Amino acid sequence: MILDGLLRDIGKCRICRDTPEYGKALPHEPRPVIAASPSARLLIAGQAPGTRVHASGIPFTDPSGDRLRDWMGIDRDTFYDKRRIAIVPMGFCFPGLDAKGSDLPPRRECRETWHDRVVGALPEIRLALVIGQYAHAYHLGTYREKSLTRTVENWRHIRDQARPYRVYALPHPSWRNNAWLKKNPWFERELLPELRGDVAETLRT
Ligand code: SF4
Repeated sequence: MILDGLLRDIGKCRICRDTPEYGKALPHEPRPVIAASPSARLLIAGQAPGTRVHASGIPFTDPSGDRLRDWMGIDRDTFYDKRRIAIVPMGFCFPGLDAKGSDLPPRRECRETWHDRVVGALPEIRLALVIGQYAHAYHLGTYREKSLTRTVENWRHIRDQARPYRVYALPHPSWRNNAWLKKNPWFERELLPELRGDVAETLRT
């Protein structure tokens, strides 16, 4: 199958280590982290693995994953059932840290080399959770606003556009966004209940 072949090729990919096109080479061996199957109905499009996920090789094995599962209203077994949920970050490998100890942006090479093909090999997707500014830039097109806050504030309009699947624009569930969540209480009060309903409906059908 097309996706199986793609996942095999991604598993062997060394572009950012051996022939980087944008910036320095990865300072570590590539370890692509992606989970997908052609039958998946729900797509989680995140940013890139951090240090913990790089170590585990499994997506969202960190506090961000705990918060994301809570936002979605599902348990770990459901979250990691790749027959139903595809997890496709904008960069498959941990990009390294900047001078301040923050994660570097997802590698552009990844988006340019793989994303159109991976997303194109997921024909059953009915709902996508698009997380953080890099995934917004790729998945939302002209519906992306000037700031992440304005984009997420526009979530109903974005969700209800005619597409092959519904899309929720979300902030990253990282602790770094605790202040953002506190400042924007409508997110938990209004968006999350509808998100949980859509996730449950998508996984049920
Ligand atoms: S980040 Fe993507 S393009 Fe870069 S080495 Fe990993 S899989 Fe390849």
